[in-house]
Amino acid sequence: MNNYKKELSIIVPCYNEENNISLFLKKIDSIIKTNKKNIELVFVNDGSNDNTLKNLKEYTKLYSFSSKIVSFSRNFGKEAAILAGLEKVCGKYTVIIDADLQQNPKYILEMKKILDENEEYDAVCCVQKKRKENFLIKFLKHNFYKIMNRMMEVDMVDAASDFRLMRRNVVDAILSLPENSRFSKGIFAWVGFNTCYIPYEVELRATGESKWGIKKLFKYAFNGIVSFSNSPLIFSLKLGLFNIFASFVMLVVIIILSCLNIINNFMDYLIIYFIVLFSGIILTSNGIIGKYLANNYNESKNRPKFIIKEYLENDK
Ligand code: UDP
Ligand code: MG
Repeated sequence: MNNYKKELSIIVPCYNEENNISLFLKKIDSIIKTNKKNIELVFVNDGSNDNTLKNLKEYTKLYSFSSKIVSFSRNFGKEAAILAGLEKVCGKYTVIIDADLQQNPKYILEMKKILDENEEYDAVCCVQKKRKENFLIKFLKHNFYKIMNRMMEVDMVDAASDFRLMRRNVVDAILSLPENSRFSKGIFAWVGFNTCYIPYEVELRATGESKWGIKKLFKYAFNGIVSFSNSPLIFSLKLGLFNIFASFVMLVVIIILSCLNIINNFMDYLIIYFIVLFSGIILTSNGIIGKYLANNYNESKNRPKFIIKEYLENDK
């Protein structure tokens, strides 16, 4: 404990949340009653064009929490805001929470208790009990995770949120991924560690509107797939090999049927055979290029080859 400057760091990404800042601080102040100086609030103002920054400066002074305010030059997105927050924290535990009070800060205490009492866990993640979203978004999100988990080497939990509390070693592991295009949900899954999932009830936004429209969600989902799976790149390799195999089966069938005099326009079928065969060859070559590209892409991400959770040595 003494190695950490603070007991708990709370990262709050804020984009145009001017009316939520005072509500958020008031709420967190009413929930976390003890040890306030030992808790730091790390606000990241993600290029808001309202009074978010002004309110952050003003209202943080009113409370006894330690605070840090990182303010971006423009809107870089929540992922960038999370990263900036993670780079600034100095707590034993770190939690990421939205500024709009959809995630009740009371769960922070619940999550902290779990880590305090269970050494085997490295992180606690809140999972939405029931998505309070319209049917289409719910359907799309659920299926996105299903598809993603098929394509990824590690599994993401459906409805797991960014609302999670982590030990310092998890924060360090996340920071050790240097990639520019960041997809936190994938990164959390990729770094591993023992995560405890607890259900939580998403509340209504205190004020303002969600910044995630369908278009932005699609872009986010697509970015997630591209960042964490090479399957789209090598898809044509599988399709091409299947085509080549199918063309040979076709050829055998055409020859047999011609010998049995069931079909008599052999040349026509031969042309179809060549079309299937050559499209297979073209797809396969594309897939091979894709495979090289995938390897190159993996190298360029420059992720660590492994993440060590513990190292024991007993030199006598
Ligand atoms: N946010 C951000 N940058 C953005 C969009 C959102 O920092 O470009 C913050 C926002 O202020 C909030 C959190 O991320 O604290 C979640 O955003 P939002 O409530 O819009 O998302 P939703 O809850 O609808 O998923
Ligand atoms: Mg929200």
